[in-house]
Amino acid sequence: MNSDETQFKEKAVILIKNFIWNETLVLLISVILLSSFFITISSCDQLYSIDTSTSRIKESENATEQQKKAENFAIIVVPDTQYYSQYHPEILTNQTQWIADEMVNLNVLFVSSVGDLVQNGDSISEWENVAESMTILDEAGVSWEVLPGNHDFESDGSLSNYNNYFGISNFSGKHWFGGSYPNGTNCNNFALFSGGGYDYLFFSFQYHPSDLVLAWANEIIDKYPNRRVIVATHDYLDLNGNRRHAGNHIWNGFIAPNADQVFLVLSGHMHGEARRVDYVNGYKVHQLVADYQDRPNGGNGWLRILEFFPADNKTFVRTFSPFLKSYESDTDSQFWLDFDRVNSTAPSLTPVPLQSPEPTNKPRLFPLPIPENSPNIIETEFPEQPLVLLAFGVGIAFLAVGLIFFMISGFNRIE
Ligand SMILES: [Zn+2]
Repeated sequence: MNSDETQFKEKAVILIKNFIWNETLVLLISVILLSSFFITISSCDQLYSIDTSTSRIKESENATEQQKKAENFAIIVVPDTQYYSQYHPEILTNQTQWIADEMVNLNVLFVSSVGDLVQNGDSISEWENVAESMTILDEAGVSWEVLPGNHDFESDGSLSNYNNYFGISNFSGKHWFGGSYPNGTNCNNFALFSGGGYDYLFFSFQYHPSDLVLAWANEIIDKYPNRRVIVATHDYLDLNGNRRHAGNHIWNGFIAPNADQVFLVLSGHMHGEARRVDYVNGYKVHQLVADYQDRPNGGNGWLRILEFFPADNKTFVRTFSPFLKSYESDTDSQFWLDFDRVNSTAPSLTPVPLQSPEPTNKPRLFPLPIPENSPNIIETEFPEQPLVLLAFGVGIAFLAVGLIFFMISGFNRIE
């Protein structure tokens, strides 16, 4: 064996040793990396378990929300139905069927009309149509009432057809029915229901109620001094948010003197949407008009959903069409009303500007479909995501350190 051969063999042995050493190093680093990976994974698990305990807190918060939900409720307003009765009874049926289907989900305590049930008070077929659609509410056990608008009067000026199809014989046996005026008719009526820890009194006034009607209503409200009161009538507010003549008559004769109880007025008749708020002795009285009859198909099925959050003293008003399966969420269709009492010593009957809608992140409490631009989209939190990223970061750092170590040791070997 010559020296070249010996040198070659020695180099070969060194190379093989280096190779074995490097492989061992690779193995070692692999083990370190793997263990660091598992460490980070297990730390992730620990973090997840921390998050699980947070979730439990969230669950208990949800339970509180559930309790609150049980106290929250909704009132649905079915605006002027006259063109549905005349041309599109299937859209009205779609509305009442949707209310029946959502009654439990929404905790619907009451459904109200704002009049003009039919287009022609003389038309029996229109009365048949609207009566058939509204029967769905009875079948579902929903509490509801109606009131006559100007189109519900017959050409002789009577409300015979109204009282034939929606008379006291239809309502007097209902658990929510409180009474009506004039006696033997259902032209003006009041309903009683309770929700969220409060008792409510819901007045339905006929188109342009007389002083006699308002005197009757004043007598009734005096019998229920502890009830929160809502008034529905046909003609009340114009589309600029000003009370019309009939609106002022009702305001002066009934609402303003009872503003410590009457907190909400609902109306139709004017084709559009508007609202106003007045303060009487610091009590807020919200007044709304909504009527979609000029929309395609006689109104396209638009409904008003009023979600009451009594614990927060707030109501969320939404405009929804089960026919279109969509919300209208512009500022005059979707807004919060709050009923906090304003500090004030003197009555103030001057109109105030329309309230701008209150921005809110309040999560929805009712399982309605949420429109894309709703302010109420539930915020879903992913606290674990950054923690996973952190764990991966730590793993990558281990990897980098391992690689550098490997390269340095490798270079040392080659030298
Ligand atoms: Zn009308």
